[in-house]
Amino acid sequence: MEIRIQKIIEALFCLEDLREVYRQALPTGLSEEEEAAFQAKLAELEETVADIRNRTGHTRVTRIAGSIELRTREEQSINIQPIQAGGRLTSEARKALAVYGDGYSVCDACRAPFRLDKITKPPSAQFHEDLARFLNMDQARVVPGARRGFQAVTSALVEKGDTVILSSLGHYTEYIAVEQAGGTVREIPADERAIVTADAAAERLEACVRETGRPPALVMCDHFDYQNANEHDVRGIAKVAHQYDVPFLYNGAYTVGVMPVDGKAIGADFVVGSGHKSMAAPAPSGVLATTDEFADRVFQTTRMEGDLTGRRFGVKEVQMLGCTLMGGNLVAMIASFPAVQERVTRWDEEVKKSNYFIDRLLAIEGSACVSEYPRKHVLSKVDTTGSFDRVAKTHKRKGYFLSDEMSKRGIVGQFAGATRHWKLSTYGLSWRRVEYLADALDEIAEKYDLVVRQ
Ligand SMILES: *Cc1c(COP(=O)(O)O)cnc(C)c1O
Repeated sequence: MEIRIQKIIEALFCLEDLREVYRQALPTGLSEEEEAAFQAKLAELEETVADIRNRTGHTRVTRIAGSIELRTREEQSINIQPIQAGGRLTSEARKALAVYGDGYSVCDACRAPFRLDKITKPPSAQFHEDLARFLNMDQARVVPGARRGFQAVTSALVEKGDTVILSSLGHYTEYIAVEQAGGTVREIPADERAIVTADAAAERLEACVRETGRPPALVMCDHFDYQNANEHDVRGIAKVAHQYDVPFLYNGAYTVGVMPVDGKAIGADFVVGSGHKSMAAPAPSGVLATTDEFADRVFQTTRMEGDLTGRRFGVKEVQMLGCTLMGGNLVAMIASFPAVQERVTRWDEEVKKSNYFIDRLLAIEGSACVSEYPRKHVLSKVDTTGSFDRVAKTHKRKGYFLSDEMSKRGIVGQFAGATRHWKLSTYGLSWRRVEYLADALDEIAEKYDLVVRQ
């Protein structure tokens, strides 16, 4: 590792230790002993800063709390792991985490009616309004991951024995959210292009009514699925669902926070997004937005009453179990939000980079793109059976040769050992980095005598 990165982390830790002195001291100031400890730490920090400046020193810290390795993959490498690209924190989010990391940190100024989305300091209430507007929906709540958004909707809308229609390329958490509510799923098959169409959805709805005697409780579909990141006709599917008076849940785990999403234009009754996948937020975090029509049902407030005490719990929402992201997660999400709002306007450029990379890969003979092409997304599944996998067949490291060669060049996040089908994301990489990535694959191809078309 470049010593500077190591030393930046060590300096950060020194600052935390300095901070800790104040956290243990009296409000009136430091004792002599504390001052001495402070000065010693400060000297260490100054040394560390000098090491950063001069690129000197050696590794002093390798673990947090004795067992946790330092994580420096984003500083040291180009990370193409699809699930990590959109969840990398902005520096504002990292600052927010540093200052709001304490447990229930957002509750300092919680006042009646005592609910997360009503807190004005930090600006949670404003954020909730902004989130709803950002998605062009009426109301929004933060949830611990997209999966908890599905769960809130299914447990409010799906009764035991109900059917939910979802895409056959759907994420496992959609299936489980239905299972937990006691429902069963019927899948909309993807066509030969691995795309889910409105016609296919209509057929399944029709069959559901015919065979069960009633429409499903809910239809849900990912805009871009996690397998190929192909685009599915969410607008058409929403329309079909509405013809049967069935609400539609738009799964935006791979869209909300990276590309513009207009819930009303899509016809979504629910928009679900993932904070840690696509909104530059820590895990777990996410968003569930809905219309005024459905807000009363999914954001139903508690009616529970203690039988002995008669205790009641005001405006706490049942599906949210009152409050959701109570600390650093929420504040980091808020801190990233200005950057997130800005970056969705640059989606076209991100897609350009994605296509640039795929074109360069396709120039390596024997390579193919499994995802729809040209790409409309930054995540792609590629097939290198006819190129890199041919090398793997005779290489002593087998399929690992490719990840070895890539990590030697500072590229991480590809599935180790995979040389046939693998996925990557170019999201958030600068043009320089995308070019570097494509050049690296060319270099590896040429090293093993694959043909690279110019
Ligand atoms: C990642 C993903 C999810 C799960 O998101 P979490 O925020 O981790 O719950 C759901 N659906 C799709 C399509 C995904 O890609």
